[in-house]
Amino acid sequence: MKTFTSLQQIQPLLINGDLSLEELVTSYLSKIEFSKTNSFIEVFGEEALLKAKEVSSKIKHGSQGLLAGMVIGIKDNLCYKNHKSSGASKILENFESIFSATAIERLINEDAIIIGRLNCDEFAMGSSNEKSIYGPTLNPHNHSKVPGGSSGGSAAAVSEGLCLASLGSDTGGSIRQPASFCGVIGVKPSYGRISRYGLFAYASSFDQIGAFTHSIDDAALMISIMSGQDEFDSTTSKRNPPSKGPVFPKSKLSIAVPKDYLNFQGLDTEIKEKFFLDIEKLKTLGHKINYVDFPFIKHIVPNYYVLTTAEACSNLARYDGAHFGFRSSESKDIESTYLSTRTKGFGIEVKRRIMLGNFVLSAGYYDAYFSKAQKVRRLIKNNTKDILENNDFILTPTTPKTAFNLGEINDPIDMYLQDIFTVHANLTGMPAISVPLKRHSNKMPYGYQIMTNNFEEDLMFNTAKYLTEHLKQS
Ligand code: GLN
Repeated sequence: MKTFTSLQQIQPLLINGDLSLEELVTSYLSKIEFSKTNSFIEVFGEEALLKAKEVSSKIKHGSQGLLAGMVIGIKDNLCYKNHKSSGASKILENFESIFSATAIERLINEDAIIIGRLNCDEFAMGSSNEKSIYGPTLNPHNHSKVPGGSSGGSAAAVSEGLCLASLGSDTGGSIRQPASFCGVIGVKPSYGRISRYGLFAYASSFDQIGAFTHSIDDAALMISIMSGQDEFDSTTSKRNPPSKGPVFPKSKLSIAVPKDYLNFQGLDTEIKEKFFLDIEKLKTLGHKINYVDFPFIKHIVPNYYVLTTAEACSNLARYDGAHFGFRSSESKDIESTYLSTRTKGFGIEVKRRIMLGNFVLSAGYYDAYFSKAQKVRRLIKNNTKDILENNDFILTPTTPKTAFNLGEINDPIDMYLQDIFTVHANLTGMPAISVPLKRHSNKMPYGYQIMTNNFEEDLMFNTAKYLTEHLKQS
């Protein structure tokens, strides 16, 4: 079967009867079966086929939802009623959710088909998808490379055509970085756009659910459908959802390029050179480029790790061997249950973060680390707001480098620095998208990141379309 890259290609064929949804689902299932990337942890084959049948009959009666024909994979940190979900962690072994995440429910209400759950770093902590109890996901463009993380399975599955779209979560770049590494679109909406109900909490003031697609229209449609207030998440915004597809082409853009990003010594020289060529191109197209100061660049990753580990150690306290999933066989009393279950159930990176989080929150260090980091976050927000007062968006490469080799980065700090260009949007709560525009001479894809002011998703999607038309390397 032909490989489809957008719902716009699929829906007319389904409606005029030139394509059968059951056959489409069958073809995804067989691709998944033969895939070698380890993107899927579990496939909901029978169920997906049943749902395909149901949606087909709705199509015949003209009563189908907006996502009829969209086959979606979900990251393994989202709750889906009566299905397993583990956060790729041993501690949630055999845990089955009794409710669905609001985001998933809204997609299903529009007739999306959920085809399976996707690999990721344990509890969404990582940048390479190597920290999963299911083993690493491989980058579909080169199996010796990582797909990025933590939503590596979500990015790889869409890139490889194992599903049309997928859901991920982004706390510091977990959607945009793997999207860049795998050559697909990855969107993190504004904080508060999409309900976090049913998403495993990592760092609650940073976490957002978002989407991976090949088409900007599909991404805009999914975000719009998932958006909006939810009584189960008090941080969701009352604003109207963004539009269902990019609407207006803005003719003259004012583009902020933070000099400090481009001076980051870890930035690959080829990525940097091509980026400057593209800046020149945008100038000749009549847009205004403003090189802006963002002096916080060296504080941004430490700031992120102080705050997110603090939130994580509290959020992960619920995995205690009493409530969900795994309980160690060495549990004798309450103390040994906690100790042994958490020692055996969590992987090394998760434990590192729980310890770091407890440290920055401890009585003697709270003011020096946590409280100070909150103040720095405010300064970062203010500085970024100022930049976006005078500019439509901030443009940067999404990642300093293309996908690295499996096993290449072992030092946690080096791994943390992979997020240097993406954590900014989470610290400020702003929406950001990675658009797959480029291919490196090493043959790996990479993306550019567009970050707009809070709740300016429409402008972000429009710009993504515009840049795709003008800067996409064939
Ligand atoms: N790589 C970052 C981290 O490990 C981001 C993860 C995420 O966005 N979930 O925290």
